[in-house]
Amino acid sequence: MTVCALPASPHADQIAAHLQLQRQAFLSEGPVSAAVRKDRLIRCVELLKHNSGRICEVISDDFGARHPVSTLMMDVQAPIAALKYAIKHVDQWMKPQRRSGLFPFNLFGARAELRYQPKGVVGIAGTWNGPLFMVFAPLAGVFAAGNRVMAKPSDLSPRTSEWLVEAVSQYFDPLEFSVVTGGLDVAQSFTRQAFDHLVFTGSTGVARQIMRDAAEHLVPLTLELGGKSPTIVGRSADLDLVVEKIAMGRAQNGGQICVMPDTVYLPRERVEEFVSKFRTLWLAMFPTVSGNPDITSVVSDRHLQRLNAKIEEARLAGARIETLGQVDALATDRRCPLHLVINPPAQTSIAREEIFGPAMVVVTYDDIHEVLDKINSYERPLALYYFGRDRQEQEHVLGNTLSGGVCVNDVMLHVGLNDVPFGGVGASGMGVYNGPEGFAQFSHLRGVYHAGWWDPRRKLGLLPPYSNKLLQLLQNTVKRS
Ligand code: NAD
Repeated sequence: MTVCALPASPHADQIAAHLQLQRQAFLSEGPVSAAVRKDRLIRCVELLKHNSGRICEVISDDFGARHPVSTLMMDVQAPIAALKYAIKHVDQWMKPQRRSGLFPFNLFGARAELRYQPKGVVGIAGTWNGPLFMVFAPLAGVFAAGNRVMAKPSDLSPRTSEWLVEAVSQYFDPLEFSVVTGGLDVAQSFTRQAFDHLVFTGSTGVARQIMRDAAEHLVPLTLELGGKSPTIVGRSADLDLVVEKIAMGRAQNGGQICVMPDTVYLPRERVEEFVSKFRTLWLAMFPTVSGNPDITSVVSDRHLQRLNAKIEEARLAGARIETLGQVDALATDRRCPLHLVINPPAQTSIAREEIFGPAMVVVTYDDIHEVLDKINSYERPLALYYFGRDRQEQEHVLGNTLSGGVCVNDVMLHVGLNDVPFGGVGASGMGVYNGPEGFAQFSHLRGVYHAGWWDPRRKLGLLPPYSNKLLQLLQNTVKRS
C-alpha cells in the first residue's frame, strides 16, 4: 500500500489528497467494530514496545541529550498505559446508551438512544517536548472512537519524526494512520486541512492562529496549550514535602513540560527555608550540570538564549536569582542548572510568560487571598497545585480558582490519570483526552429516535387545522409550567 504513503515535506495539495483517500477508506469501511479498534490500539502498543531502544536514541538526538529513563517514562510507558486503558474499556464506551423517551410517544413504544459514532479522519499536531506522548496519548481516544488519523510531529523533533514515519508504515496501512513531516510551512498546511477533528498541542499564541484557520472548514478542535501553572504553598504545608514534590516535578525533562510548576507562591517568612532546602535536595539529585546524563538539555540554542534573556531581564529588574549548580566553562551541551527567580517585578517577561525550561519563579505573599486574586486576574492555567494540611483553605483554593487540572499536596501526577480527562480551560486550552470523556471527544454523540408502533398525534387532535380547544389546552399547559 506504499503507493498512497505521503512524501517527506508534502505540499498542501498532497496532504489534502491523502486526507481525501483516508476519508474515502473510512466511508467504505462502514461501522468500525470493537475488534478493529482494539487491533489498531494494540498495534500502537506493539510499535512503542518493540522499538523502545531506538525511541530513546532518536529522542535524545533531537533534544541534544535526554536520559532513557525520561524517554521510557514519558514517551513509551505513559502512552502505552493510555492505549491499554482504552483497549480495556472500548467495548463499554462504544455501547449505545438508552435515554429518556418523549412523552406521550414513549407510551406507544417510541424510544431514544445515544450512539457514539466515529467522526472520520482526525489530525494530531504535536510538540517536541514529549514527541511521542503528544501523538499517542490522544491517539488512544482517537482510535478507540473508531477514527483514522494523520499525525504531524513537531519540526523540532526531526529524527523522531523520520523514525515515526518508518515505524508507522510497518504497523499500519497509510490509510489508517499516516505521519506528515516537515517544517513550519507543512505544519501550517496540515492544520488548515478539513479534518473531521483536529488536536493541536502547543502554545496559546499559535493556537489563536490554528483556531482562525480551523474556522475556514469549521473543524472541531481540541487545543492542548500551556501557561503559568501556579503552585500555592499554604502556611499549614510541610515544607520538606513541598520541596521534595516540586523538585521531583522540576527534575523532569529539563522543565520542558506543560504542567511544570512555573510559579511558587510562598508565605513570606518561609522563603529562606524553602530556598535552602530546595538547594540541598536539588544538588543531591544533580551534583553536576554539564555532561550530567540525568539532565535533559534545553531543546535548541534559540530556546536557551530566550531563557537566559528572561533570567537576565529579571536580574536587571531587581529579582534575586539563585542558581542551583554550575555550567562548565568549556561545556558544549545545553544542560542547565535550575534558576530560582525570586520576586521578579510584574512587568518582566518571566513573571508574565510561561517559562517552559529550567527556571522557576518564587513569589512571596502575606495573605493567601491576595494570591488567589492575582491568579484569577491572569489567564486560566493548565494546572494548579496547592500544598497544605488546612482542609478549609484547600477547599477555598479549589472553589475559588479554575484551571485545567489540580493536584493537592503534589504536582503533575494528575496527567497520568487515564480515567480522568486531561485538558485546559480558557487560554490553556479546550477539550480533553483520556478516559471516557476523551473517547466521547473524538466521537460524534448522535441522538437517535426510534418511533413506536403508534403515533397518537392525529387522534389527540394535534394536527392542522388547529382547534380552539387545542389552543386553550396549550395555553393552560404553558401557564401551569
Ligand atoms: P508552539 O506553539 O510554538 O508550536 C507548536 C507546533 O505548532 C509546532 O510544531 C510548530 O511548528 C507549529 N506551528 C507554529 N506556528 C504554526 C502555525 N501558524 N500554524 C500551524 N502550526 C504552527 O509550541 P512549542 O514550542 O512546540 O511547545 C511548547 C508549548 O506547548 C508550551 O506552551 C507548552 O505548555 C505547550 N504544551 C502543551 C501541552 C498540553 O498537553 N497541554 C503539552 C505539551 C506542550
